[in-house]
Amino acid sequence: MVHGEVQMGDAPALASAQLSTADQDSFATEADVIVVGAGPGGSATAAFCAMRGLSVLLLEKSQFPREKVCGDGLTPRAVRMLTRLGIDSTETAGWARNKGLRVYGGRTEPFELPWPELADFPDYGLVCPRSRFDDVLAGHAMKLGVTLHTGVNVTEPITADDRIVGVRDNQGREFRAPIVVAADGNSTRLAVAMGRQRDEARPMGVAVRTYFESPRAQGEWMESWLELWDGRPGESNQLPGYGWAFPMADGTVNVGLGMLNSSSAFGHTDYRALMRTWLATTPPEWQFDEAHQRGEIRGAALPMAFNRKPAYADGLLLVGDSGGMVNPFNGEGISYAMEAGELAADAISEAHSRGVGTPGAERALHAYPTALSSRFGGYYRLGTIFVKLIGNPQIMHLCTTYGLPHRSLMKLVNKLLANLTDEHRGDAMDHLINTLSRLAPPA
Ligand SMILES: Cc1cc2nc3c(=O)[nH]c(=O)nc-3n(C[C@H](O)[C@H](O)[C@H](O)COP(=O)(O)OP(=O)(O)OC[C@H]3O[C@@H](n4cnc5c(N)ncnc54)[C@H](O)[C@@H]3O)c2cc1C
Repeated sequence: MVHGEVQMGDAPALASAQLSTADQDSFATEADVIVVGAGPGGSATAAFCAMRGLSVLLLEKSQFPREKVCGDGLTPRAVRMLTRLGIDSTETAGWARNKGLRVYGGRTEPFELPWPELADFPDYGLVCPRSRFDDVLAGHAMKLGVTLHTGVNVTEPITADDRIVGVRDNQGREFRAPIVVAADGNSTRLAVAMGRQRDEARPMGVAVRTYFESPRAQGEWMESWLELWDGRPGESNQLPGYGWAFPMADGTVNVGLGMLNSSSAFGHTDYRALMRTWLATTPPEWQFDEAHQRGEIRGAALPMAFNRKPAYADGLLLVGDSGGMVNPFNGEGISYAMEAGELAADAISEAHSRGVGTPGAERALHAYPTALSSRFGGYYRLGTIFVKLIGNPQIMHLCTTYGLPHRSLMKLVNKLLANLTDEHRGDAMDHLINTLSRLAPPA
């Protein structure tokens, strides 16, 4: 099978299989909402807005299917968002499920941590190449009535009285709507043009990844390495960063490593060389070698803990990486982008009914950052502290040596890192995590 293909039983709608109206005679340029960027954040925002009866223009600079540098891992949080969107994530629809995390650290044998059994979240994760996943999400949004224009590279906002009223692309084409969403990823040209600067004090990560054809592609666990070594663990030099290997349904494994800006090596490391050094220590039968590598080692940034604010002002909402919404505990950004998209759609539809431009509509739009903060603010604050602590390799080594062998402690850590607890009627661990998140001042 060609890399990137997933066999789907009941094939979902794909953006790449549908004609964008940009290819047709009528080229819509006005809507209730414009969403810039058709990654998971943008497509989810657009889909949730369409579900609420709004007309939506989704503008994407590339063509589907397109590559996106990512680990391709979907935790139960992200799976829940697929369900909320109405996308079938059952195995009969062709998705490959995994049952949890296999964690390496502190000793040769790994620890297996199944996804928790909860009322609020499913107990399985998925791994799907972003070339496919983003195509599915954008296609689903189109099925719900969203107009997707691909090949539209948005370069600037159109403003009136300091408020965004549309966008212009690099061909000078104009698109107008009273509310605009920047879901254009970490570099977010649109948010920058509207004056939203990045807060350098917030946590930030960098990660690289590639694919290998490997017998481990059939695995049922998402694997992660809390410590990397250039030889035998504990008997060689410890390398900076954390690694992962996520088995895909297409016979390959997505393998990568990441580093946080709390590490002293951040910003002056050759990440590709680091990855090669680490992979040379993996067992030869895993085939994480040049002969079995599929595609370049490619990297990108992970903006965390709301590193760009405010998430709403002057008619523009930020969703996903544009607003720095990656979870600092585990580098997960897909679910957070999609969840933000749903919260944004709530605020936008409320503003639309009240009459955009009225004080009531503005109050509804300002409720979006409040909703984000109340859902993730305290948790991200805890994550910011965590990032500072594990920036010190000795602290991480202590945790892996003494913490990992304690099953109930690791169960707690697993729930904390993946942000998987029941809000009501959870167990004592859920209660502890929820209370800490509530008490922490929002990030
Ligand atoms: C190496 C790596 C591994 C990762 N692994 C995982 C993982 O396993 N699981 C996980 O949950 N998260 C992971 N993440 C984080 C995750 O990839 C992001 O958080 C997620 O993609 C954010 O989605 P988004 O929709 O906000 O932005 P993006 O996915 O970046 O989408 C932005 C979209 O906007 C488009 N765009 C950009 N500029 C313009 C413009 N000017 N005009 C029009 N369109 C534009 C882009 O083409 C793109 O389609 C990883 C990140 C990296 C770097």
